[in-house]
Amino acid sequence: EAITVADLAQKLAMKGGDVVKALFKMGVMATITQSIDHDTAVLVTEELGHTAVRADADDAESELLAHVENVQGDKAARPPVVTIMGHVDHGKTSLLDYIRRTKVATGEAGGITQHIGAYHVETDKGVISFLDTPGHAAFTSMRARGAKLTDIVVLVVAADDGVMPQTIEGVQHARAAGVPLIVAINKIDKSEADPSRVKNELLGQDVVAEEFGGDTQMVELSAKTGQGVDNLLDAISLQAEVLELQAVAEGRATGVVIESSLDKGRGPVATVLVQQGQLGKGDYLVCGVQYGRVRALFDENGKQVPTAGPSIPVQVLGLSGVPDAGDDFVVVEDERLAKEVAQQRDAKRRETRLVNQAGNRMEDIMAQMGEGTGQLSLPLIIKADVQGSVQALTQALTGLSNDQIRINVIGSGVGGITESDAQLAATSKATLIGFNVRADASARKVIEGNGVDLRYFSIIYDVIDQVKQVASGILGVEI
Ligand code: GDP
Repeated sequence: EAITVADLAQKLAMKGGDVVKALFKMGVMATITQSIDHDTAVLVTEELGHTAVRADADDAESELLAHVENVQGDKAARPPVVTIMGHVDHGKTSLLDYIRRTKVATGEAGGITQHIGAYHVETDKGVISFLDTPGHAAFTSMRARGAKLTDIVVLVVAADDGVMPQTIEGVQHARAAGVPLIVAINKIDKSEADPSRVKNELLGQDVVAEEFGGDTQMVELSAKTGQGVDNLLDAISLQAEVLELQAVAEGRATGVVIESSLDKGRGPVATVLVQQGQLGKGDYLVCGVQYGRVRALFDENGKQVPTAGPSIPVQVLGLSGVPDAGDDFVVVEDERLAKEVAQQRDAKRRETRLVNQAGNRMEDIMAQMGEGTGQLSLPLIIKADVQGSVQALTQALTGLSNDQIRINVIGSGVGGITESDAQLAATSKATLIGFNVRADASARKVIEGNGVDLRYFSIIYDVIDQVKQVASGILGVEI
C-alpha cells in the first residue's frame, strides 16, 4: 500500500518539506504529492525518529503471506495422506484400527497408540499417513475450507453387501476433489463375500478395476483377520509413487489442524498435519485465530518428538486457545507477528458473529417462499474466497433438499460480495452467504437498504448447521 508524502507528513505532524528532505537523504526522489510504498514509508518514518505502527488491519495478514512465500527450499518426496471412505458398517473403523494396531511403530514395548486424529505407519515401501476420521463429512469440510489434505481415498466396500449409497457418495467426493481412489473390498473372510459382484457394481460408477482394463486398484482384504491388508498398503505406496508427492522438507513449517481440544491438564491441544517444512519445539506459530509457541510435540504413541516433517501428524501444545479443525497454521519468526495476525483474525470473527445475530430473516423467507406451492424453498447466494469452497458449499447445501424443502443456490462465485450480488439477493429475496469474504461498501448499502439477510461464515459446518436448523425449525422435522 502506498501513501503520499503529504499524508505521511501529516500523520507524523511534520512539514512535508522535511519528509521530502529525509527521503532525499535516503536516495528516494519524491515530491510532496507523490506516493511512496509501504516499506519506504516505514524506513523514512524511522529515519525521522518515529516508530512505524501498522494502521491497516490486513497488513499483518499480508506480512504473513509474504512470510509463507519466503519459505522456500528443496522439495523432497513426502508420504501420502489417506482418508478412508465407504458405506456405514462396511468396515472403515475396523480397517483403520487394524492398521493402527499392527503397523504403527510404537517405538518401545508397551507403547500405546492414541487417537489424535491421524497416525502414520512405516512399511517397507515407505511411510503412509492415515486420517483417523473416516467418512465424507470431515473430508468435505476440510476441502471446503481450502485444505487439501488427502492424497488418496481408500473406498471400503463390504464384499457381502456391495455398492451402497455412501459408496457412491465416496466415489463422487473423491472425484470432485480430484483425488485418486483405491478400492478395499472388505470382509472377504465371510462366506457370503462376493468380490466380483463389488467390481461389477463399481463399473456402474465408472470405477473400473485394473483387471477390467481400468486404472483403479482394488484389493481384497479382511479388516478382521488382516488378510490382504499388506496388499492394500502396497497399493497405496504404488499410487503415491505415481502421484510423485513432494513437499519442502526443511525450513519453517506450514500445515493444517485436523483435530483440537481443551485438555484439563495440558491446555489447548491441536493435532496438526505438517504440509511443508519442519515443525519443531520452540517454534512460534499462528493457527487460525490462535497463536503460541510450541511447548511440546507428541506423536500418535503419546511420545514426545522434537520435530515433525511433511505429511506427519503431531499433537501441539502451547497454543493460546483451541483452534478449529481445518484451520491452517504457519510458523513465523517471532511472537509479534503470530500474535498480531491471530488478534486481527479474532476481531474479524467477532464481527462475523455480530452480523449473524443481527440477521434472522432466513426463517421468514423460507416460510414465505413456500406459500401456495407446498414445497418450501430457500434461495441462497454463495460467495467464497476460493472456488473449492463455492462448490463444496453449493453441493452440501443443495444436498439438504428433500420433498418438503428445496435449497436453491441461485447465484455463486469467488470473491467479495458486490453490489450486484446484493441486488440479486434483494430482488430474489435470497439469503447471502459470505464464506471467508465480506461485502464491500456499495454492497452494504444495498443490503442495509433492502434488509437483505447476510451471513458471514468461516466454517462449512456452521453454514450447514444453520441452514439445517432453520429448515428443521420450519418443518418440525430433522433434515
Ligand atoms: P464402519 O461403519 O464402516 O466404520 O464399519 P465398522 O468398522 O464399524 O464395521 C462394522 C461391522 O463389520 C463391525 O461389526 C465389524 O466387526 C465388522 N467387520 C468389519 N470388517 C470386517 C471383516 O473384514 N470381516 C468381518 N467378518 N467383519 C468385519
